Amino acid sequence: MIPSRVLVVEDNALNRRLAVDVLRAAGYEVAEAEGAPEARVSLARGLPALIVLDITLRGTDGVAFLRQLRADRRTRDIPIVATTALAMKRDRERILQAGFDAYLAKPFSPRILRQVVGELLQRRGTATEAPRG
Ligand code: MN
Repeated sequence: MIPSRVLVVEDNALNRRLAVDVLRAAGYEVAEAEGAPEARVSLARGLPALIVLDITLRGTDGVAFLRQLRADRRTRDIPIVATTALAMKRDRERILQAGFDAYLAKPFSPRILRQVVGELLQRRGTATEAPRG
């Protein structure tokens, strides 16, 4: 089975490394980007099955970048997990309303990252394979 490709967009090098290592150890093929411009380059090369997107990126608001991804036919159906240190309930609602598929408040455990990514990919796989009509 071909491993699912995941793109991690995170401007903090340590946080990015942690997420990349956890996902690689779980068997995913992982691409990484430190900001929206780098993510666009990665997406132009190939589309991931899922994106993990930090909300607070240097130069770009992650929510604004999400809206751009949702407005683009190529990327609008890719599940996107928000990661953020803004752990207030109000922020969580704002983030989910913006169109993210899931939300992880930092710091999060390797287990919850694997679980959320696995569930979203499984849901997507089931939806794709479901008979039509
Ligand atoms: Mn950040």
